[in-house]
Amino acid sequence: MLEAFIHSPRVAYFSMEIALRNEIPTYAGGLGVLAGDMVRSAADLMLPMVAISLVSRAGYFRQRIDEQGRQQELPDYWQPELWAKPLDAKVAVTIEGRAVWISAWLYLVEGISGGKQPVLLLDTDLNENTAEDRELTHYLYGGDNCYRLKQEIVLGIGGVRLLQALGFSIFHYHMNEGHSAFLGVELLRRHAHPANEVRSGEPHYDIPHVREMCSFTTHTPVEAGHDSFDYDLLNRIFDSSFDIASIRQLAGNEALNMTRLALNLSEYVNGVAKSHADVSNKMFPGYQVHAITNGVHPLTWAAASFHEIFNARVPGWHHEPELLIRAECCISDEEIRNAHLDAKKKLINQVYDLTGIRLALNIPIISFARRMTAYKRPDMLFSNIERLKEIAKKYPIQIIMSGKAHPSDAGGKALIEALHGYEKQLEGIIPTVYLPDYNLAIAHGMVSGSDVWLNTPLRPYEASGTSGMKAALNGVPSLSILDGWWIEGCIEGITGWAIGSLTSTNGNDAIDLYYKLEQVVLPLYYHEDNSGWTKVMKYAISKNASYFNSHRMMRRYLIEAYTR
Ligand SMILES: *Cc1c(COP(=O)(O)O)cnc(C)c1O
Repeated sequence: MLEAFIHSPRVAYFSMEIALRNEIPTYAGGLGVLAGDMVRSAADLMLPMVAISLVSRAGYFRQRIDEQGRQQELPDYWQPELWAKPLDAKVAVTIEGRAVWISAWLYLVEGISGGKQPVLLLDTDLNENTAEDRELTHYLYGGDNCYRLKQEIVLGIGGVRLLQALGFSIFHYHMNEGHSAFLGVELLRRHAHPANEVRSGEPHYDIPHVREMCSFTTHTPVEAGHDSFDYDLLNRIFDSSFDIASIRQLAGNEALNMTRLALNLSEYVNGVAKSHADVSNKMFPGYQVHAITNGVHPLTWAAASFHEIFNARVPGWHHEPELLIRAECCISDEEIRNAHLDAKKKLINQVYDLTGIRLALNIPIISFARRMTAYKRPDMLFSNIERLKEIAKKYPIQIIMSGKAHPSDAGGKALIEALHGYEKQLEGIIPTVYLPDYNLAIAHGMVSGSDVWLNTPLRPYEASGTSGMKAALNGVPSLSILDGWWIEGCIEGITGWAIGSLTSTNGNDAIDLYYKLEQVVLPLYYHEDNSGWTKVMKYAISKNASYFNSHRMMRRYLIEAYTR
């Protein structure tokens, strides 16, 4: 089953979550969707990779929202055997002094020209393991810190061991976020100095050698967002045959910080947008954090109607999305408008199926979909509801929202409740819907069928953001705070619009949002000559989709990180 993949060296890409398809809930949000897009691009470009993640049998969670707008979390079980093949290799890691056995499912990502990428989904739900250990790969981001530590041991150490057991030859390891940093620790063990050559106080391991083999991508611009574990916990749980003192030198003295560990074990480190790299360089003085701005997978995120016109007018776009730079001249206004109408009709049907509410085709849809958490400020659009109503009286609008809050994020859940309150207040004035259980299918419909893609994060917390890139691919312009990718993507009035300026303070953003909507965005949409709006749609494609795609991102990782 693996013959085709083990004859030549590959890059091992480790990610705690990965979005492979809508039926497989092994992702929570942007990080996992990015991982999926990386692998899909690698398949299209036939680059030698293998991805390693967890099988997450109970998924992240299925979101239900009650009448009051309260989120309920249900397990989201899926059946690996329906989508993936079991591999017969098994390896063990030591946790709390006992062996925990790990096997894997093989999922194949198929590229446009027949290229295939293997994805290994690690699974501890085996007869050999205790009931408790069998659940280690059930709940993505579930449980307490102890559960998380064990999962990260399974992912990092188990993943490296399984690759070896299966016969893979790996020439580079890529950690997508710090969750997988224990892979570097396992590599250290492989490259330990002979005990009699280690002088006291010196590291037991050949650290430079391991660093040469590893790259690390950080995604979190806040210190609190990085996993960290007490050494007491580590001492209790971790395999005692590792030299914990050496790990401590690499991972921080007070607590084991997975980001520190990854930084110290990777020769190449990057952030996911230019501004995020700047923030990371300030957060981690002494390290060089490069920037590889994220991108999205062209074939996955373009609506069917855009596939059609791109195939006809920009042949080769799915291998070289750079060619989309030609969109502004090679695609007629009518073709763009019709492709958009087609996607918008599909979204309206999708909304009807999910909520029973039918939105109108001739009124602009403003959409907001992302993780529901305080710094994303999903309530900004409603912060002055009278002002919003006033604007909508002149320029009718419709609003779609979607997104999950992490089960332990009380603030995020309160925001979902508040949004449902606003929805009720606007009844009969501004059609507003909240689509429960945000997933790949809902994202696909929203990014392609909306008219304006709204994003209102608190600066500088949006490391990159990718949904706006998906929208751009479908000619949907963004109206967004200048943070993350939008600092690079926004050309005012050309590819979309900024809320506030680069230097404005977070406090004035709502005022700027209403101003832009009322004075710039909606007047252009409703202008009797619609060529101005169509031009913005085309520029979103030609200036943003041609660049913010995962093919460019993947080629950059290959040249600048993997084969440096
Ligand atoms: C793209 C995507 C995300 C990430 O979007 P951001 O703009 O980075 O917040 C999250 N969830 C799903 C389902 C997506 O498709």
